[in-house]
Amino acid sequence: RLFNEVQDLKGNIRVYCRIRPFLPGQTKKQTTIEYIGENGELIFGNPSKPGKDGQRMFKFNKVFGPDATQAEVFSDTQPLIRSVLDGYNVCIFAYGQTGSGKTYTMSGPSGPHEEDWGVNYRALNDLFNLSQNRRSSIMYEVAVQMVEIYNEQHLVFWILAICFLDLHTLGIMSTSQPNGLAVPDASMHPVTSTEDVLELMDIGLKNRAIGATALNERSSRSHSVVTVHVRGKDLKTGIPLHGNLHLVDLAGSERVDRSEATGDRLKEAQHINKSLSALGDVIFALAQKSPHVPYRNSKLTQVLQSSLGGQAKTLMLVQLNPDVNSYSESLSTLKFAERVS
Ligand code: ADP
Ligand code: MG
Repeated sequence: RLFNEVQDLKGNIRVYCRIRPFLPGQTKKQTTIEYIGENGELIFGNPSKPGKDGQRMFKFNKVFGPDATQAEVFSDTQPLIRSVLDGYNVCIFAYGQTGSGKTYTMSGPSGPHEEDWGVNYRALNDLFNLSQNRRSSIMYEVAVQMVEIYNEQHLVFWILAICFLDLHTLGIMSTSQPNGLAVPDASMHPVTSTEDVLELMDIGLKNRAIGATALNERSSRSHSVVTVHVRGKDLKTGIPLHGNLHLVDLAGSERVDRSEATGDRLKEAQHINKSLSALGDVIFALAQKSPHVPYRNSKLTQVLQSSLGGQAKTLMLVQLNPDVNSYSESLSTLKFAERVS
């Protein structure tokens, strides 16, 4: 087994917190973050109640401060990701208000620098390398799929880079659809390297049915899901294994003022609210080991169902903007996390 630290107290759910740095243009650098402990402690302060009265302590499996690098975040995520090659289902998602660094953590800033790569690219790179080098007795097929969930009822596929790779002949082995998801408009792309996948992901981003200016706007109001399907077959015993990795950049968790939002914007906000609370309910039920897990309450939880619960491993990356102006959104993010950790 590649993955040795499977169990912690809450079973297969772990929660990390990442605090993004202040950005170069931000002038008034007053922070809500008062203390970050070695063992996942975070002391969060209320700017209008300085001192002990306004402090609240939260506990995570790990807290990454503003100076943490992409490589550091990945290295604490890597064992989980590698367990997919042992046939586990894994779900990693970034939660937080818009601007808190979800996309930075999951994808990284776009650009050629490998040190900037986020979890998505590093995960793919790692899985490709491992599946090609380390496990010669198991033959793997890897398929990658990118999906956007917008307005809850609509599943918009903005790219489907589906690639089954026969690692021995380096050709496409099958064009069947991967388990778990119906993908009507799938386009098939053979890949032989991480670079191929990265290129496809970039093409996918550009091909989204939406103009570039609107893209940023809307990406904060949709969930984007990269799914890596891994199928393996032990060449000696013939025993098959199947694992999924879901990498999810969630819609912004900020509350929308009902008095200001109208029409489409209000509808979007309601869908986001519904799906994020459905996700919270599912993870809460799993953390409580409840016999009933309410997967069916949102499209998001339906899509992720195979990677939430049962033997599956879940990692929530809780993102915070340290600025005092984000105090109340940060607090509600922390409360969301507290419920499941
Ligand atoms: P979100 O996806 O949650 O809306 P982004 O990932 O777009 O937030 O981050 C908002 C801004 O902060 C972006 O300009 C991003 O490059 C920057 N940023 C976020 N996290 C970090 C970090 N850890 N280090 C440096 N810049 C960051
Ligand atoms: Mg984003």
